[in-house]
Amino acid sequence: VQLYGPSAWGAGYFSINDQGNACINVTVNEKPITVAITDIVEGMKSRGLDMPCVLRIENLLDERIRLINDSFADAMQRVDYRGFYRGVFPIKVNQQYHVIEEIASFGKRYKHGLEAGSKAELLIALSQLNDFDSLIICNGYKDEEFIELGLYAIAMGYNCFFVIESSEELETILAQSNKLGVDPLIGIRVRLATTVDGHWSGDSGDGSIFGVSTAGILRAVEILKAADKLDCLQLLHCHLGSQIPNIRNVRIGIQETCQYYAGLIAEGAPMGYLDIGGGLAVDYDGSQSNTSHSMNYGISEYCTNVIETVIETLDPLGIEHPHIVSESGRSTVAYSSMLLFNILSVRSKQAYHLPAAIDDEWPEALVNLFEAHQQLSLHNVQETFNDAIYYRDEVRQLFQRGQASLRERAMAEEMTLAILNQIRLLMPKLSRIPQALEDIPKTIASIYYGNFSLFQSLPDVWAIDQVFPIMPIHRLDEFPSTEAIIADLTCDCDGRIDRFILNNEYHETIPLHALRQDEEYYLGVFLVGAYQETLGDLHNLFGDTNVVSVHINGEDSFEFRREFEGDSIADVLSYVEYTPAIMLEQLRKICENAVQKGKITPKIRKSILGAFRQSLQGYTYFER
Ligand code: PLP
Repeated sequence: VQLYGPSAWGAGYFSINDQGNACINVTVNEKPITVAITDIVEGMKSRGLDMPCVLRIENLLDERIRLINDSFADAMQRVDYRGFYRGVFPIKVNQQYHVIEEIASFGKRYKHGLEAGSKAELLIALSQLNDFDSLIICNGYKDEEFIELGLYAIAMGYNCFFVIESSEELETILAQSNKLGVDPLIGIRVRLATTVDGHWSGDSGDGSIFGVSTAGILRAVEILKAADKLDCLQLLHCHLGSQIPNIRNVRIGIQETCQYYAGLIAEGAPMGYLDIGGGLAVDYDGSQSNTSHSMNYGISEYCTNVIETVIETLDPLGIEHPHIVSESGRSTVAYSSMLLFNILSVRSKQAYHLPAAIDDEWPEALVNLFEAHQQLSLHNVQETFNDAIYYRDEVRQLFQRGQASLRERAMAEEMTLAILNQIRLLMPKLSRIPQALEDIPKTIASIYYGNFSLFQSLPDVWAIDQVFPIMPIHRLDEFPSTEAIIADLTCDCDGRIDRFILNNEYHETIPLHALRQDEEYYLGVFLVGAYQETLGDLHNLFGDTNVVSVHINGEDSFEFRREFEGDSIADVLSYVEYTPAIMLEQLRKICENAVQKGKITPKIRKSILGAFRQSLQGYTYFER
């Protein structure tokens, strides 16, 4: 079943095999290797790693690092570019230890560095990078402590740049540098006039809260000149916005940045590095378009456009080619993680209890509804729909006033459901679908209850209507029989997914398979490696999920390199300031009181405390 479209959104990393299983495709020792995700899930089960689980494939992370470095190298080589490329991974995009560890380790061959936006992230960069040729780029607001750490990094030999957001920050850097006797490496983040399409257009443009204005840049230059430190200004930084869907935006933005670069050279700064920030997009919906979940270019085109624009702008001015730095986060990590979860139950919207004949006692509205159901045909679809809703609502009003019974209301609702389901089947045969009927597929979609929290694992679906590709990881050789939406475990009506990408088209429902007795049904949400893991929150106290990092070594051969057990209930309780030991003590007293009052026996007391203790150690998600 190809309707889930992995060939469109999977960038070649995902496919479906002849047994109907979703697979991961990687290259090992220059050989293409395919591994079924279900095989990895079997391995997880035997190791006691329950659903939900984030599955990371280290090879995919490595392939993305290789791809961006090779693509820039190719683009540079084609035009005899005289600078080099240095990638830095923005830690905020996925701060998890195993991800950063792999980026630092695999990226070492490309001198791939890290970008830190806070003190905590700088500590990560300092402890993980062990190649002095890799860059550390410090963005964001920096206090004395942050600056001190960065200066120590420079003293050790790191190329650690402070990218300034304001001239005040520059004063602090200079003061700390004097104190420690270490010259800083300074970059300036420019606030471009160029804006980009898509969700993150506010990252640049006049209204942006980031970057230094043109006048502010000149002020910074004056401050540096006065301190005799203009030679420290070696980097210009811009960030147009994340997920730039349109390559034209990139060209125009880089052109503007290059003019600032040339202007700073004219002011006497040595410069040397041009940091083009993040923004390299991910084609989440596979449409290869300039819409916000997609991109109308590939990585190679992106790199070529950047390099060509730099050359076209700076060569005529006789300026040396700057080294190019990019801070691609999303494009580097999105593909490497997927969220896997099992379906716990399904609420079907089929009608099961329909009366065979009219009863004389029924209210008239119910009789009319029965007749509408009997008479439904291709020629009166809209009329029957209108009647059904009208008479159902009338029965509900009668019920409200005590003039229809519980059973009569149930019959009205069941008959309406039956009518909607039949209309749904007739809809493909209609020459035009009336607007009133458009919502029917969603209204009668089954609800698949998944063992996960949207707020913890897919926060962008809730926060910014992000669409991630979703498909079952097995049974893909069977046609899915049910149109569905997906609900999570939280008690929140926002904890649902009702927007799906299926073969390049957006749908409000997803076709899924019927559940089978005693058999798990697993879904995968793909391309979730960027931003989701740390932005997630503790809604209903569903904590971090289990995480496994798998490395594929060859055909049918993979190893579980890293495992991270998700939060226990005791963990999440402590995040919200409970102390599990004190809670246990309190319960002990309550139980003893119940024993004293003769409500429970001491033996039951022991069982209650045992169950409580065991729950504290348990997973926050549904356990079978
Ligand atoms: N650099 C900066 C300064 C950012 O603010 C961001 C994110 O918005 C990034 C890099 C990463 O961007 P992306 O994940 O789109 O590559």
